[in-house]
Amino acid sequence: MDTHSAVVERLRSSFVSGVTKPEAFRQTQLMNAMSMLQENEQKIIEAMHKDLAKPKFEALLSEFEMVINEIHYAITNLSTWMKPEYVSTNLATKFDDCFVRREPLGVVLVIGPWNYPLQLLFLPMIGAIAAGNCVIVKPSEVSPAAEALIAELIPKYLSQDCYAVVTGGSEETVALLKNRFDHIFFTGSQAVGRSILQAASVHLTPVTLELGGKSPCMIFGQVNVTVAIRRLMWAKFFNAGQSCVAPDYVLCTPPTRDAMLPEISKVLEEFYTTDPQASPDFPRIVSPRHWTRLMDLLKKSKGRVVVGGGGSPEDRYIAPTVVVDVPADDALMQEEIFGPILPILTVGSVEEAIEFVKGREKPLAVYVFSNSSAVVNQVLENTTSGGFCSNDGIVHITLPTLPFGGVGASGFGSYHGRWGFETFSHRRACMLRGWALERLNGLRYPPYTENKLYWLRWSTSPKSSCSIL
Ligand code: NAD
Repeated sequence: MDTHSAVVERLRSSFVSGVTKPEAFRQTQLMNAMSMLQENEQKIIEAMHKDLAKPKFEALLSEFEMVINEIHYAITNLSTWMKPEYVSTNLATKFDDCFVRREPLGVVLVIGPWNYPLQLLFLPMIGAIAAGNCVIVKPSEVSPAAEALIAELIPKYLSQDCYAVVTGGSEETVALLKNRFDHIFFTGSQAVGRSILQAASVHLTPVTLELGGKSPCMIFGQVNVTVAIRRLMWAKFFNAGQSCVAPDYVLCTPPTRDAMLPEISKVLEEFYTTDPQASPDFPRIVSPRHWTRLMDLLKKSKGRVVVGGGGSPEDRYIAPTVVVDVPADDALMQEEIFGPILPILTVGSVEEAIEFVKGREKPLAVYVFSNSSAVVNQVLENTTSGGFCSNDGIVHITLPTLPFGGVGASGFGSYHGRWGFETFSHRRACMLRGWALERLNGLRYPPYTENKLYWLRWSTSPKSSCSIL
C-alpha cells in the first residue's frame, strides 16, 4: 500500500467509526481550527510574504480574517444546519415524518491553488469539517512557504485520524487521485480541472470545480469617476491581480476611457507612489514561470501601454499596467490574465458590451459600474456569471451568506457559509412511516381498478393535503 493509500485508509476507517458525526466533535475541530489561526497569525503573515510579498494588510484581510469569519459562522450556525428539514406532504403521507437529513459524504479531498493559499484551502475544509467529513487537503506546491506551514499546523491542531495534508505537485496529486474519495473539491485552472474530472470519473466521485476565466468590468453611463476608479484599481491590483475574481478587462466607450485614464494614473500613484516596486503594499508574481507568462502576454499585445508596463525578473515584479487600444483578438484577450495587467477595450454601447461578454465563456464574475440602476439591471439580466457585483469588485465574495462558485467554464458547485456545508453533505430523503391510513394506502395493491386509480391520483397530488384534514 503506498503512503497516499495508507492515509486515505486511515481516514476512511475513522469515518466509518462514526467519530466525525456528532455535532460536539465537529464543533471541537472547528474551535481547534480557530486556535490554529489565532495562535499562528504571525507565521501566516510571514509565509504569505515569503511566497507573494503579500502585504500584512492583504494577508490579514483576504486570508486570515476570511477564514476566521468562516469558522465563526460555521460554529454559530452548525446546529441549525444539522437539523432535519421537514417538508410538506400529501394526504397519503399526512401522518408520516418526512424530512431531509444532511449526512456527511465520507473522505473528501480539497485541492488548492497558490494565490490565496490559506483561504482557498481552509474555507472548503471548514465546510467539509462542519458537514462531518474526514478531509485530506492538498495545498499548492507553487506557494511553498504556505504549503509547509499548512503541513505543519493541521496535524498539530486537528485530529490526525480524521484530517491530513498531502504535499507535492502534479505528479503527487495524480497519484493521490487514484484513490477513491467521496467528494473532490478543486480550485485551480480549467486545464487541470479537466484532468480532475477524468480522475474522478473512475470512481464516480462527485466534484466541485472552482475555476477561473476572464471576468469583465463594464463601465457605462454616468459614474463618479474618482470613486469608481479607486474601487476598480483596488480590485484589479489587490494581490497584484492574482485573484480569480479580479476584473480581467474593462469594456467602456471611448469618452469614458478618456475620462478614466488621468484618474487611473492618479489613483495608482496614491496607492503605490510613483515607484510601485518600492511600495510595501504591492505584491509580487508568484514564480519566475508566471512572471515570464505575463511579460510574454504583454510583449505580444497589440495594445498601447499607458500606465506601467515594466517589470524586473529578479524580484518577480510587474508594475501595475494598463493597456488601451486592445483589439478583441489580442494576446491579452486569449487567456485569463491573472496578474497586474488591465486591458481596456472600447465599444459603442452597453448593448455591444453585453454581446461581447455573451459571446465568450461564462465568467466567474461580472462587474458593472454605473450610476444608473437601469444599466446595472440591464447587465445583470442579460449576462450570466458565477457572481455579480455592481459599482465595486471582489467584495461580493466576502459575504458567507452568498454562494461562491462558477458557472459553465468558470466551474460548478459552490461554497462559503451554509453553501459549503451543503456541498459536503448528502441530502438524504427520509420518510418515517407509521401504520395509519391503511385503507388509503391499500389502494395501490392489485387487482388494479379505475376507482382505486382515481383516489390514488387524488391522494398523492400536492393539493390533496390542503383540501382535506
Ligand atoms: P493549477 O490548476 O495549476 O493548480 C491547482 C492545484 O492543482 C495545485 O494544488 C496543483 O498542485 C494541482 N495540480 C497541478 N497540476 C495537476 C495535475 N496535472 N493533476 C492534478 N493536480 C494538479 O492552478 P493554479 O495555478 O494554482 O491557480 C490559478 C488558477 O486557479 C487560475 O485559473 C485561477 O483563476 C484559478 N482560481 C480559481 C479560484 C476560484 O475560486 N474559482 C480561486 C483561485 C484561483
